[in-house]
Amino acid sequence: MWVKADIQGLTYESLLAWVNRGGSMPKNLEISSSVCGRIDRNNGRLLCNRNTCRFYNPALTRLLKHAPAEWRSVVLNCPTPTCLIRFIDSLNEAGHRTGSNSWNSVHSFQMIASTWNGWIDREARGHSWKAFSFLPGSITSFSLHLPGYPDDNDNDHADSDSLIDAQIKWPLQIPAELLHGLTNLQLHFDSPSIPASAVFTALQHSENLEALEIDLSSGVFNDHMHGALMPLYSNRNGVSLPKLRRLHLGQVIGESIQDLKLIKFPNLVDLFMSFGVDGFVDESEGCETFSLDSDDTVSFDASALANFIHGDPTSPSSLQHLHIKGASFLPGALHHIIRELHSLAHLKLEWVSLVGDAKHDFAKLIEDKPTPLQGLRTLEITRLKESAEIPLLRAFTEARGIDLKLSVHDREEWEKGDKRYLYLAGIGLDSEDEY
Ligand SMILES: [Zn+2]
Repeated sequence: MWVKADIQGLTYESLLAWVNRGGSMPKNLEISSSVCGRIDRNNGRLLCNRNTCRFYNPALTRLLKHAPAEWRSVVLNCPTPTCLIRFIDSLNEAGHRTGSNSWNSVHSFQMIASTWNGWIDREARGHSWKAFSFLPGSITSFSLHLPGYPDDNDNDHADSDSLIDAQIKWPLQIPAELLHGLTNLQLHFDSPSIPASAVFTALQHSENLEALEIDLSSGVFNDHMHGALMPLYSNRNGVSLPKLRRLHLGQVIGESIQDLKLIKFPNLVDLFMSFGVDGFVDESEGCETFSLDSDDTVSFDASALANFIHGDPTSPSSLQHLHIKGASFLPGALHHIIRELHSLAHLKLEWVSLVGDAKHDFAKLIEDKPTPLQGLRTLEITRLKESAEIPLLRAFTEARGIDLKLSVHDREEWEKGDKRYLYLAGIGLDSEDEY
C-alpha cells in the first residue's frame, strides 16, 4: 500500500477504510511526499512549512501507530531532515499505548534520506538525541539510504558544508538497542568519503546480524574521527559478526579492503563483492587490480582481500558461495584468494580480467597438494575481459565434475557502443557468446 502524503484531505478514517480492504493480512506501507523540500517557482519559498508539511499529519501517524492493522514493512521516503523532524514530532504527539498496536508490528523499516541537502540540527535537539531513535523497537530489518554530497555548483544547496560535516560525524544515529535487535541491515552511501568509524560503531552493536548489505558507491572508507579505528586494529578480533550468513558489498574500491578486513564473519555462507563503479566497466576506469607484489604501488593488496574473504583467520572459512565482480587479478592473486576456501561450492567471477600469466592460476590449483576446492560444484566465469584460452581450465573442471559456464566479453563490439552496460536484469547482453 502506497500513501502519497501529498494527497489533500487525507483523514484517518479514509486511510483506515482503504487499509481494511486488504483484510487482516499484514501490509507493506510506503509513505512519500513530492512537495516537501521543493521550492515554489513563483515566490522562491519552500512549498512545505509547519502548517503545510504533509509528513506532519496526525492522520498518518495515528494510522501507523494505532490502527487495528499489522504492518509488515514500512518505507519512509522523507525528502528533508526538517520534514523527518516534523514526522517524529507527529509520532510523539500520537502518544504511546501499552499492549499490541500497529507500530510495534513493524518488522522491516526502510528510510530513504537520499534527497536530503542538510542534516538535523543537533544543537537544537540536544547532543544525545539520535535521528533514527523514532524507529519501532520491533524491527529486525533496517535499510537506510544516506544522502550524497551536494554539487558545489548547486545553489539550492547552500548548506553543503554542514551536510558534509554532519555526515562525517553522525550519519548512523541508530540507538544501540535497536541495532542489537537487527538480523538484516542495508546501508547505501552516495558520498565519496564514507565514515568508517561510524560504520564500525554501528556494526559493533549489531552482533545478531544474519545479512548485511553495504553499497559504498565507490566512496573511500575514511577514519575521520582521527584514530578511532586504532582500538579495532590493536584488538585482533576487529568487529565480529558471528551470526552473519550473507554479506553483499557493492562498489568497493581497492584501498577500502584494509579497513573492511576489520569485519570478521566466521560463519559466512554467501559473499558478493563488486569493485569500482557498477555499470561502468571500462578496463581503465571501472576495475580494481589485485596483486601479491607488496611493492606494486598501482595495484591493491591481494593478501588483504584474501584475508577479508576468508572471514576470520582463527577458523576455517565457511564460505559456500562467492561472487566477485569487476576486478583484475595479476598472476597468483586469484589462486591465493580462493585456494583456502575449503567449503566453497559455487564460484562466480563476473567482468574479471586475468592479467598475463594469471591465466595459469587454474593450472596452479591442479598442482596444489592437498587438493584445494574439493567441494566446488559450479564455476561461472562470465564476461571475461579477454578471449585468450585459460590453460587447463577444462582439465580442472572436468577432472572434478565441476559444472563450468564461461563467457567472454567482446570488447570490439562494446567499443562500438557507448561503453556502458546497465545492470538491469537481462538487458541486451545476449550478443556475448557463451560456450
Ligand atoms: Zn514537509
